[in-house]
Amino acid sequence: MDAVHRRTKIISRHLHPSSSSTDLPLNPSPCLSYSPPSDQIQFSTQSLRQIMDGHDLDARDWAFSLIESSSLFCPRRRGDRVFVGPDYNQTKEQQREMTMKRIEFLEKNGAFEGWLTSEGEAAEMRKMALNQVFGSYDHSLAIKIGVHFFLWGGAIQFFGTKRHHDKWLKDTEKYVVKGCFAMTELGHGSNVRGIETSATYDKEAGEFVINTPCESAQKYWIGGAANHATHAVIFSQLHINGTNQGVHAFIAQIRDADGNICPNVRIADCGHKIGLNGVDNGRIWFDNLRVPRENLLNSVADVLPDGKYVSAIKNPDQRFAAFMAPLTSGRVIIAATAIYISKIGLAIAVRYALTRRAFSITPDGQEVLLLDYPSHQRRLLPLVAKTLLSLYSS
Ligand SMILES: Cc1cc2nc3c(=O)[nH]c(=O)nc-3n(C[C@H](O)[C@H](O)[C@H](O)COP(=O)(O)OP(=O)(O)OC[C@H]3O[C@@H](n4cnc5c(N)ncnc54)[C@H](O)[C@@H]3O)c2cc1C
Repeated sequence: MDAVHRRTKIISRHLHPSSSSTDLPLNPSPCLSYSPPSDQIQFSTQSLRQIMDGHDLDARDWAFSLIESSSLFCPRRRGDRVFVGPDYNQTKEQQREMTMKRIEFLEKNGAFEGWLTSEGEAAEMRKMALNQVFGSYDHSLAIKIGVHFFLWGGAIQFFGTKRHHDKWLKDTEKYVVKGCFAMTELGHGSNVRGIETSATYDKEAGEFVINTPCESAQKYWIGGAANHATHAVIFSQLHINGTNQGVHAFIAQIRDADGNICPNVRIADCGHKIGLNGVDNGRIWFDNLRVPRENLLNSVADVLPDGKYVSAIKNPDQRFAAFMAPLTSGRVIIAATAIYISKIGLAIAVRYALTRRAFSITPDGQEVLLLDYPSHQRRLLPLVAKTLLSLYSS
């Protein structure tokens, strides 16, 4: 009976964890004889960090402290240390809402100030540093921020001109509008030039009519589309007087401020994914959606009110290349964040290998640290070297 009572007590502790139990410092376990590296460090960890993080250390520390300060980021105190990390046991819907709430919290605390309206290398580097911090907390958080700022915001910055900058950039920075980036279609991903969504210029109305002509033209995997995005930059084939001028980008509102989907737009949810469930990926169809002529992002080419197509770049191949070039930065950001995440994963793996022991060489001798096994070293150390080389070359 005693055993049953003890077991029930243990199980109920899992169901109702008491707050005091999570505040307790970690107790050393007899199976783990671990001496924290801080006892033996012979060099300046701050200098090493300067090399590893490279730039904007204060900004990174500020962002980490912001994350630690809010219950939205699930901080868990262990002694004098704070561990943060999302609850991946939450449902897809909960993860999406938590990601959006975290972004709103960061925005209210000024984390995104100047991300689209400041210029210069220092502002760019600070933005990268902060995004790496958000990515190291949770990739969904960084991707949802990235889609809004680097894809939607970046499209306005680089494909648009002053009229678009004045109208959208500040509101994007403040999350008054929530943007998504509708390029990929069910039938065309890598081959962007093959997309089938059409934008036909209506000279009488001074509007473009955006249409999804067939099922393979539905926009697919669009981050932010399933729940939160109010606006989209839509990549479409531009048709004027029966001539196809190739792929161009247009701004359209897809939801009102209350989250209702706009007329002539249909949206479906891409559903549960094997990861990144904090990002609400969706599918979008356009049923002759009308947008004003001014919503064409016109840094490379424009359509005059009378329907005349004008561009300084005459060659369609070069025009397309000029159009796509700014998207390269998005790829660089994803690669840089991947390095940051690798560092965290490897730090966990190396620390564990320096903690956990298995098998002793002599009877009654101390068991051997995992990292002292050559087979373990061969698995981990090349990855450490590869990650560091990628870091320094990025
Ligand atoms: C989680 C997630 C989020 C996304 N978010 C967005 C978003 O917000 N907005 C958006 O517009 N898109 C988004 N995408 C779509 C993404 O950009 C596309 O998946 C990507 O461009 C690849 O297109 P595809 O999936 O159609 O693959 P395909 O282009 O069909 O490629 C299929 C396979 O063929 C290979 N392949 C393709 N072309 C070549 C070639 N020329 N030579 C050799 N091999 C080739 C590819 O490497 C791949 O293995 C997202 C995708 C995912 C998975």
